[in-house]
Amino acid sequence: MVHINLKNAAISETELAVDVAVNDLPRVNAALMQLIAHEAPTPGPLEGTTDMPEYPEDVKAFGLPTVPRLYGELHFRQCPGTKLPLIEGNLTGQVPLRCQACLTPYLWQMNIDVKLAHIYKEERESDVPEGYEAFLHERPDVTLVELLEDDILLSLPTFPKHPEGKCQTLVEETPEEKEEVKKKISPFAGLKDLLNKSDSE
Ligand SMILES: [Zn+2]
Repeated sequence: MVHINLKNAAISETELAVDVAVNDLPRVNAALMQLIAHEAPTPGPLEGTTDMPEYPEDVKAFGLPTVPRLYGELHFRQCPGTKLPLIEGNLTGQVPLRCQACLTPYLWQMNIDVKLAHIYKEERESDVPEGYEAFLHERPDVTLVELLEDDILLSLPTFPKHPEGKCQTLVEETPEEKEEVKKKISPFAGLKDLLNKSDSE
C-alpha cells in the first residue's frame, strides 16, 4: 500500500497515479460484498475484510475481473494562504451491485471527485477552503486507504437501483396494462399542449 507524506507531497506539488484493488480497501470491500449478496446487509458497524470477493453466480456472468480496481489521479499542493496540504483528484472504477428493486445485478460506474484539505486537529477546520472537505489526520504520513476509504464508502449507493427504465421487470406487462399507463400519463400531455398554446398567443 502506498504511503504518502502529505506535507512533502504538497510542497513539491506531487502528482500520483492511483490504481488500487477493492480488497485493499477493507471496509469498501466488505460493503460491496454485502451490496452484491442475495441477503439483506447486516445491520451495525461494518467489519472490514481483505478477502477476495466471492461473487454469486449471476454476478460472475458479467465476466468481471476477480477483484475490481479503482483508478485515478491525485494532485497535492499547498493552500496559498493557510499552507494546508490540498488533495484533489478523481477516481473511477466499475463495481457490481445488486439492484434492490428487481434483485438482479448490474455494473455501477463509480466516479468520485476528491477535494480534501489536510488538518492535524479539529480546531483548524475553519481554515479549510471553501469547496474542500476537512481530512482530519494527526500525522502527515498517510496510506492511500486512510486517505480515500471514507470518500469511497460514502459514494456507494445506500439503495442500489438500476438506472430509470433499466430494471428487469419480473412480470411482462400486458398490452392492457400498458394502455392503462398511457391513460394515466395523458392528462399531463394535455396540459403541456395547453401551456404551449397559451405561450404562442
Ligand atoms: Zn433493477
